[in-house]
Amino acid sequence: MTDGRDELMETDPFDAAPLRLTVNLEALAENWRDMAARSGRARAGAVVKADAYGLGIEDCGLTLYEAGARDFFVASASEGETLRAYAPEARIFVLSGIWPGQEKTFFDSDLVPVLASEEQLAFWMSVLAEHGPYPCALQVDTGFNRLGLSVDEALALADDVSRPTSFEPVLVLSHLHSGDTPDAEANRRQLDLFRTVSAAFDGVEASLSASAGIFLGPDYHFDLTRPGIALYGGQACIGMGNPMRPVATAEARIVQIREAKAGETVSYGGTHRLARDSRLAVASVGYADGYLRNLSGSGIPLRASVPAGAFGFIAGTRVPVLGRITMDLTIFDVTDVAIPAIRAGDYIELFGPNMALDDVAAAAGTIGYELLTGLGLRYERRSLGEDDI
Ligand SMILES: *Cc1c(COP(=O)(O)O)cnc(C)c1O
Repeated sequence: MTDGRDELMETDPFDAAPLRLTVNLEALAENWRDMAARSGRARAGAVVKADAYGLGIEDCGLTLYEAGARDFFVASASEGETLRAYAPEARIFVLSGIWPGQEKTFFDSDLVPVLASEEQLAFWMSVLAEHGPYPCALQVDTGFNRLGLSVDEALALADDVSRPTSFEPVLVLSHLHSGDTPDAEANRRQLDLFRTVSAAFDGVEASLSASAGIFLGPDYHFDLTRPGIALYGGQACIGMGNPMRPVATAEARIVQIREAKAGETVSYGGTHRLARDSRLAVASVGYADGYLRNLSGSGIPLRASVPAGAFGFIAGTRVPVLGRITMDLTIFDVTDVAIPAIRAGDYIELFGPNMALDDVAAAAGTIGYELLTGLGLRYERRSLGEDDI
């Protein structure tokens, strides 16, 4: 039967989606190879927590594995369980450690807990007593005051001759709090402390640097690096160019284009009054899609300190958000775009190759990490691999 309905169903949902996200896996693989090269003699791992920074742990995990990554970091055991199918021979470290009751998940999926406190260590020793040798990693706090054994606790553990032989740390790690600021003195202090700790764990691999630390140079690389945001195209260090390739492109469809007169107002609260006759594009993206209300052009407290709201990109032109972003819709000023160049149904790029993720995030007073991990469920997603480009 070939009635009209069958034909309709053949449309690729991506081509008809009100809101869509393209993940460029080829760029992701290139970014990993770039990070691996910048890691010098150290191996580069890959951080894929929070669903690979919102971009999809399955496709991203497999792409990174095929690019050569063999050390992965996730936040939780359930993320590790998901990843295992896509990274069969890799070591998967669980940054939040292990809780009683999770042993089976760790053993079944061959996950390595990153132990960060005396309590976790004590629990871990009881697990080893029951089940025998199993690898673990140790996180040491060198000044972040987040997770980790204190330096003194770590040194005492390294010297503890009574620790069971089944206790097999395979990695000791720490995390820089100001790696994104290359001049920060704290980096050097954390480095010195971490050197002391890693020396005490003779024969155990050491890891200090996330994306930003990789840019701080070879002193910071140790045996294994832990890039995250840079893999996904985000900016790792403040005040330097971003050498990474953009990976994610978010686009919203224009539902309606409308003409409005000077003096009229736009969106909730009427906070933006048009200074000229204007053409407005109403696009199907809102704060429910992680297009944060703080990206609004006006009508929010943040505009006092960050005067410009977000811009979209269409037909070679940066177009500003006008007034408040609403739950499902955002209004862009497209007055400066020549009218034959855009129509309802066209897509406005929210971020991607033409509109840097970090610039958009900055307009909301936040960072690319938060924008990516908050994208929400309404995007139609497409992955581009080597075969698709
Ligand atoms: C998130 C995280 C990373 C990755 O950080 P990026 O800045 O995204 O590169 C590395 N190590 C730890 C402990 C983390 O929590």
